[in-house]
Amino acid sequence: MNTNLTVSLCAVLLMATCSFAYACENELATLDADFEGARMSECGAKKNSFNIRIDPENKPINPSPWYAFRVTPKQPGELKIVMRYSDSKHRYRPKRSDNATHWRLIDSDRVRERRKGKKVTLLLKMEDTPFIVAAQELLLTGAYQKWTDDIVERAGLRTETIGESVEGRALIAIISEPENETEKKEHVLLVGRQHPPELTGAFAMLPFLETVFADTSLAQEFRNRFHLTVVPLMNPDGVVNGNWRHNVNGVDLNRDWGPFTQPETQAIKRIVDDIAAGENSELRLMLDFHSTNRNVFYTQFKNVETVPAKFTDHWIAGARERLEGYEFERAERETTELATSKNYIHRRFGAPAITYELGDQTDRRLIRASAIIFAEEMMETLLASDPSLEDKAKPAAQE
Ligand SMILES: [Zn+2]
Repeated sequence: MNTNLTVSLCAVLLMATCSFAYACENELATLDADFEGARMSECGAKKNSFNIRIDPENKPINPSPWYAFRVTPKQPGELKIVMRYSDSKHRYRPKRSDNATHWRLIDSDRVRERRKGKKVTLLLKMEDTPFIVAAQELLLTGAYQKWTDDIVERAGLRTETIGESVEGRALIAIISEPENETEKKEHVLLVGRQHPPELTGAFAMLPFLETVFADTSLAQEFRNRFHLTVVPLMNPDGVVNGNWRHNVNGVDLNRDWGPFTQPETQAIKRIVDDIAAGENSELRLMLDFHSTNRNVFYTQFKNVETVPAKFTDHWIAGARERLEGYEFERAERETTELATSKNYIHRRFGAPAITYELGDQTDRRLIRASAIIFAEEMMETLLASDPSLEDKAKPAAQE
């Protein structure tokens, strides 16, 4: 897309018509938000600087103030950009990339926070190539597609289109089934990216899955026993639109497991209903990948019964023994009526249902290294469970 064209079109059509692609320019550079994952709600040019506003998609909303915009220099030099948050405060340390693939943190001495984080000034060195500034690294629909195609081919899996998002994007599940018939159909459900800015959750989920779908004897043994359904990208519209939290109907998908009012959660519900309706079919585990301010697993209370029993205790203890230098917490939570994946799955199946949260700033290499260990320990722990288990914790006829 030619950014100058966007700019002149917006100028001709007045800014109000350009809500999807705010852009502005001065003598030094052009600024735009005309790409997948972008968010810049308003943009004003001064002679040597820009003022931009970062707004959420709707309110009220959790404070995950996502932003992403492109700078196209007209000449080398230093550019000042003042970001203002209307409804939150600065959370994500700004990163920049020339190719939207390799990212580096902008030095903290080039980032000044004012007014308790509601106003942030960036000082950016420009050469002659365009670059993107974003809250976190971009991981967009095309990257998911490519990653999925690769792993499906490599591991001999299949995908299923389980539904469509509000804007009509395909919701894809990766399916792995044991080669030979098993006495019981034991299922594992893994979901990701309900919340668009939660990149570190995605950075854990992908290597976690690569470990489960690897050509190792452990992974093969695991896949010969367990049925896996994986939905890595539950909220593609939110990702494309650079949303802070919601789908494009303004609904937090992780508060919709129960009402199931949205096409994205309805697609998941069909999977879950199929597992519940299957003969000799049991759900053994659900993991849902997210990000927050620290590495934490939200789990059931230790004294609450799950099937398999004590899965979470064994899994976490096994991983902790192998993980040096990776700090994480287990936070036990009561199963309530709040319509999260964790509450819904645990209530309905009695299976362990865990929110796998990574810190926004956790070292990316540690996220990857630890995810591999968590995947291996998950497989070991589930393989150690008795396949003949009846899901006794399952309450009768509960939706
Ligand atoms: Zn989340």
